[in-house]
Amino acid sequence: MAEFSIIEQYFKQARLYQNNVVLGICDDSAIVSPPPNHELVICTDTLVAGRHFPTNTSAHAIGWKSVAVNLSDLAAMGATAHSILLAITLPQIDHAWLKDFSNGIFDCCAPHHVDLIGGDTTQGQHLTISVTALGWVKKGQAIKRQGACVGDYVVVSGQLGDAAFGLQHLGHPLQQRLDYPSPRCLLGQQLQGLASSMIDLSDGLIQDLNHILLASKVGARLDLETLPLDPALHHLPHTKQWQYALAGGDDYELCFTISEKNYQQLIQKELSVPVHIIGRIEAPVGLRLYYQEKRQDLDLHGYQHFAQT
Ligand code: ADP
Ligand code: MG
Repeated sequence: MAEFSIIEQYFKQARLYQNNVVLGICDDSAIVSPPPNHELVICTDTLVAGRHFPTNTSAHAIGWKSVAVNLSDLAAMGATAHSILLAITLPQIDHAWLKDFSNGIFDCCAPHHVDLIGGDTTQGQHLTISVTALGWVKKGQAIKRQGACVGDYVVVSGQLGDAAFGLQHLGHPLQQRLDYPSPRCLLGQQLQGLASSMIDLSDGLIQDLNHILLASKVGARLDLETLPLDPALHHLPHTKQWQYALAGGDDYELCFTISEKNYQQLIQKELSVPVHIIGRIEAPVGLRLYYQEKRQDLDLHGYQHFAQT
């Protein structure tokens, strides 16, 4: 019985934003009526306590982040977020925790008019949260990892390395960027028809950009002096800055490739977040790093989910 009162109390919205949700939380499945001439874009991401966030992370931040990482995946396709499903495994019922957690979920959903339309609630040993997000994109308009062309700029949104720095300096203002990533939903949509490929940065720039390079069968050069870094990172030695910016995870910024012509068009728009050119796509495969025109040989790796620890 407890399960149903939890759902009623914490996860049922009084009013939905989206008018094409035919059936939300209440039945065996949700029903959504898709807009004509659009494709459904779906993704899912799981957060495990102690693995994807420090165990003392606030319930509100956990709720926020579990939504944000999924909206970021939709943004990385150029899709418009629509709704989410929430599967949660709880070690025990803690009402204060559930209240803060569900507020975190809805606070992240609200600015993007995303509705919670279903899910699953179970009891289990480890706190685990799995969110599935649904979005729409005009037929054939999704921006994939494949598509980068020789000569395209490599561009990122916002700043790099904030979350990794925050994780190493808990209590520093940049911890906010670790706990409350901002999914770049609007920018993702603004890049439709302009970016040739795109990915969101969850595991570190080097690793994530490499997915674009492999899918597109091209290489790239990055100019490390152009990496957008928070002032808090400026006084650090270069190797440390690059460690955070290139190999730190959890930034949830967008990394995309775009032709010079389309870039000029992009910056005419009023963008919701600044964008920075950090490199260029080249024909020889592989990623080459330069600092003030000098080739750098760095041994950096992004986040490995199954690494031996
Ligand atoms: P079933 O047993 O048929 O799978 P449930 O009893 O688990 O259905 O769920 C009842 C309703 O509550 C469904 O609409 C389901 O999607 C929704 N629901 C369950 N858990 C959650 C949750 N954590 N967040 C949002 N909706 C939920
Ligand atoms: Mg059922």
